[in-house]
Amino acid sequence: MNRRSFLQSAAGTIAAASLRQADALPMAPQPNKMIGLQIGAVSFADEGVGKVLDECQNSAAVNTLFVATFTYGRGIAGRQVPGQPLPDHGNQTYDTDTFFGGAYTKVNPKYYANTEFKSFRAPDLGGFDVLEQVIPEAKKRGMQTICWYEDVFRRDLPNVEKLQEVELTGKKAATLCFNNPDYQNWLQDIAEDWSRSYDIDGIMWGSERQGAFSNMLGASHGHANPSTVTCFCEFCYAKARASGINPERAKQGYLELEKFVLASRKGVRPVDGYYVQLWRLMLRYPELLAWESLWTSSLRAAQKAIYDRVKSVNPKLGVGWHIWHNNSFSPIYRAEQDLAEMAPYSDFLKVVIYHNCAGERMVDYIDSVGGTYFADVPKQELLDFHYRILDYGHEADITRLAATGFTADYVYRETKRARLGLEGTKTKLLPGIDIDIPTGKQSAKSTPAGTEAAVLAAFRGGADGVILSRKYSEMKLANLRAAGDALRKAGLA
Ligand SMILES: [Zn+2]
Repeated sequence: MNRRSFLQSAAGTIAAASLRQADALPMAPQPNKMIGLQIGAVSFADEGVGKVLDECQNSAAVNTLFVATFTYGRGIAGRQVPGQPLPDHGNQTYDTDTFFGGAYTKVNPKYYANTEFKSFRAPDLGGFDVLEQVIPEAKKRGMQTICWYEDVFRRDLPNVEKLQEVELTGKKAATLCFNNPDYQNWLQDIAEDWSRSYDIDGIMWGSERQGAFSNMLGASHGHANPSTVTCFCEFCYAKARASGINPERAKQGYLELEKFVLASRKGVRPVDGYYVQLWRLMLRYPELLAWESLWTSSLRAAQKAIYDRVKSVNPKLGVGWHIWHNNSFSPIYRAEQDLAEMAPYSDFLKVVIYHNCAGERMVDYIDSVGGTYFADVPKQELLDFHYRILDYGHEADITRLAATGFTADYVYRETKRARLGLEGTKTKLLPGIDIDIPTGKQSAKSTPAGTEAAVLAAFRGGADGVILSRKYSEMKLANLRAAGDALRKAGLA
């Protein structure tokens, strides 16, 4: 299979469904695995398109660019996060005052007739259109270009309030609702705009969020505020009623759950213990879980709609999804990521398996759920329990984990699990590999040896490729080259 045909063949998934049996047979090693790299517009603007592409190709054998074409987040766009050391390339000043976010491509108004959200061109880089600049140079070098956008917005945008979710308190959230027709249309419209306006090879979209139940319990890394859980808007209420879920009962259940969580965070132990009390609430209000499932099913519907829209424009374009790192920590979130169920509308899946920052993120997750429904369990015991149920091997104990990160064995196990989860499907598995993702001062940092081991582990686990993450503007060249060394050792570059 040559490099160009990778996504095209993935796109033939439906037509080739009857051939699945034959395709499931072991295949000979493929020299042209997808070697993807996430990169924001600012790197091209700062360092020059040709220079950056040559560096990525020469050092890490990158053959596919995941260009951050839309986001309001710093995770995939902008220069290095302020406060973190600047890498050994690119502009050596922080863009604290200039980063705003939005679309780093032209916006063609004709595609946005069915949404109120029309004004989202990123002002950061003037008229710089990243796809217009990058695609011709990428093609010259035999590289593919995927538009990479994410579910991250800000509050100070014209009309965005019409698309926002509603929190339990009734206040508008900063996040947008998958059941709001304006947001549904916008998500599809921007994908259509890119698909029609540029000679791209595919689209990847990511949403690093979860439903009200998980958020209220703090079941993620990062610090969730129980009072800001979503979504309780009119569109979600209507969808709930149509699905036989009583929204008033759901809201009542969440208000009870909120009381439990707020008291737990203060160390007020229920008479029968934290874990038992959560079960009592779940049994009394089955709507708690129904509401969580409703949220996740709405996310899936949004993905399927994007997939269908892109395929209606050009069936050869590859469409896939970024799966949030919380998949590595929270068993509840993991239960919601049924890869086989997603496969029919996923040409590829980028499963985040960031080994290095996983250490401090896991500690953060344990601290969080260790303050709510697992508050009766000592932290080390709780971590051991998670290692066991998530099927991890020998990772560090709670006092050292942030400083050591996870091992390459974690990358291997998670890749293998995803591979098995996708068995019988044609969806390509592309683990996201951590290269210099920012961590705390005392926490583990990427190294060339660790990066090389992680890349090799992904292929040993059965990956169809890798996506070097999160963004070129935070990666040290030595670590990028270590990814390339791994690929050369594996005969993949
Ligand atoms: Zn809603």
